[in-house]
Amino acid sequence: MFTKIIDFSTYSSIRIGQPEEVLMIEKDDDIPSDRYLIGGVNNLLISTTPPPLMMLSKDFAYIKDSDRVLEIGTAMPTGRIVSYAKKHDIAGFEFCAKLPGTLGGMLAMNAGVKEYEIFNILHSVCIDKEWIAKEDIEHGYRFAKLEGIATAARFETQSGFDPQLLEALSKLRSNQPTNPSAGSAFKNPPNDSAGRLIEAAGLKGYRDGGMAWSEVHANFLVNKGNGTYDEAMRLIELAKERVLSRFGVELELEIKIL
Ligand SMILES: Cc1cc2nc3c(=O)[nH]c(=O)nc-3n(C[C@H](O)[C@H](O)[C@H](O)COP(=O)(O)OP(=O)(O)OC[C@H]3O[C@@H](n4cnc5c(N)ncnc54)[C@H](O)[C@@H]3O)c2cc1C
Repeated sequence: MFTKIIDFSTYSSIRIGQPEEVLMIEKDDDIPSDRYLIGGVNNLLISTTPPPLMMLSKDFAYIKDSDRVLEIGTAMPTGRIVSYAKKHDIAGFEFCAKLPGTLGGMLAMNAGVKEYEIFNILHSVCIDKEWIAKEDIEHGYRFAKLEGIATAARFETQSGFDPQLLEALSKLRSNQPTNPSAGSAFKNPPNDSAGRLIEAAGLKGYRDGGMAWSEVHANFLVNKGNGTYDEAMRLIELAKERVLSRFGVELELEIKIL
């Protein structure tokens, strides 16, 4: 293992944070249990005092393809997985195209678009050197109880990459803001949408310093330039309070705060 300084004001998708020392884990290392693992930092908000951090090195960014089973290391960026699937005419990964991050982040969040989620196509995950079948991992909408660090996952492959599905799902992105964000801030409550509730609470486009609830999609907390952690937290608290007091709905964060 080795350490690396990562500047989260440029590395994180929401462009908030400061330079921090991150422990990089290599192939045969024992993974420490007293550090928080980050992936591509597309779903995280880094505070001014984050816990000690670690990250899987490029040793964990691989794809092994054997006899209709794909084994993918969890540091693999989603974009590269989709390119591989396209090139080798493999079905199932089309929805990952517009999900920024790594396979590890996708597994931990059970990331997805509409009815397509990573657990739908997953076979098993390697956690603490043991392969665990997906049926034995508790999971649901935007959550999975991995109970450890996932280093690789296996997928049973079927042929037939679907470019039309890729395009249809990509089009859905046209209602998303282009400013830096960490994706949807809150999970959608059952039978409702967090964006609709935040908008109905009068917060669509509401700004605090450099941060705002996007005017394009109210559930996106966006950085308009030099936004800070404190501004982001104030907006999150405001949305939670207003939606609770006006509609009696307790919004649950999708973004994780470190
Ligand atoms: C513009 C934008 C649009 C987005 N749209 C969507 C969307 O439509 N649907 C959706 O689901 N998400 C969406 N997201 C969120 C994000 O793309 C996903 O959550 C993605 O899976 C995060 O991956 P990451 O590598 O960046 O994870 P990180 O943000 O670094 O980490 C997320 C969590 O995963 C854990 N983690 C990471 N790697 C591992 C591992 N190897 N083992 C165990 N735990 C691990 C971390 O500890 C953390 O708790 C969007 C984000 C952005 C910025």
